[in-house]
Amino acid sequence: MSRVYNFSAGPAVLPEEVLKEAAAEMLDYNGTGMSVMEMSHRSKAFEEIITTAEQDIRDLMNIPDNYKVLFLQGGASQQFAMIPMNLMKNRVADYIITGQWAKKAAKEAEKYGKVNRIASSEDKTFSYIPDCSDLPVSEDADYVYICENNTIYGTKFKELPNTKGKTLVADVSSCFLSEPVDVTKYGIIYGGVQKNIGPAGVVIVIIREDLITEDVLPGTPTMLTYKTHADAKSLYNTPPAYGIYICGKVFKWIKSMGGLEAMKERNEKKAKVLYDFLDQSKLFKGTVEKKDRSLMNVPFVTGDADLDAKFVKEAKAAGLENLKGHRTVGGMRASIYNAMPYEGVVALVDFMKKFEEENL
Ligand SMILES: *Cc1c(COP(=O)(O)O)cnc(C)c1O
Repeated sequence: MSRVYNFSAGPAVLPEEVLKEAAAEMLDYNGTGMSVMEMSHRSKAFEEIITTAEQDIRDLMNIPDNYKVLFLQGGASQQFAMIPMNLMKNRVADYIITGQWAKKAAKEAEKYGKVNRIASSEDKTFSYIPDCSDLPVSEDADYVYICENNTIYGTKFKELPNTKGKTLVADVSSCFLSEPVDVTKYGIIYGGVQKNIGPAGVVIVIIREDLITEDVLPGTPTMLTYKTHADAKSLYNTPPAYGIYICGKVFKWIKSMGGLEAMKERNEKKAKVLYDFLDQSKLFKGTVEKKDRSLMNVPFVTGDADLDAKFVKEAKAAGLENLKGHRTVGGMRASIYNAMPYEGVVALVDFMKKFEEENL
């Protein structure tokens, strides 16, 4: 068996320990004589899996009792519609546009009400986070929306926007559980798990209880109403059971590593190796304003598309996979999520040094 260092933006690297455990339990989960894939979502064994998973993420993020944790489907993209359908009482919302995902979310919300784009960094290809300390937040906005870590462009909000009392909604798909968060600052925190937590097919929504109501937009499907899933403890219909099981294992793994403080330290240490190299390199260049750099997604370029392509190809041959930048921006991107080991980033930097010597 030989594993590569996988720098994919998502679906992405998972902790090897978790994959091994899942493999060992594949045919017989905990004496049940069946795989988690094969068991009823109403069974006692699965009930324990989902309850434990919820408790563990609550512990990790220190989630207050007045927030629900929902395990849903449809990916982060389905939340682009579910959020306005459930929250747009006044049919007005403010969006901060820091990349493709925020842009898509705003466009979807426009189907349901008035969307004010109160800040944007599109003028410089989303290479920075705008100053959000004093934005023209709309008087009647039902919420203010951000994408907290911009997977494609490699920027991250280091400070949350001043929403002037309005509910903050955040897509944290690509920075979920990468560092401690103060949940009380948000109305909704949500993310698809395939970036930093588990296999594709699960989206986790952490939502303050007062935002869960029957008063949703007319025509909102039962399945797209938060109350449906909150009342049924994410078991209204068949949930993505196997995915939830893997997420639960990842929560345990993070706990065993020391929790979110330890994750943050580890992620900072990894990112520093790469950013420090980029800052002194004569060939490679980071594409993002330093103060807004993501710890998770690191885009970089040589400035020559052919050389970029050569780099990606040779890196792959050296066991460093999925370094090609997003199709909309080109260049390279190294996603260095929680499960990417320090050694993986060092291997990447060593390879970049060698490539620089050979090609400068
Ligand atoms: C990947 C990603 C999405 C889209 O997720 P899907 O689960 O494919 O819908 C949305 N937002 C962010 C920040 C992402 O990184």
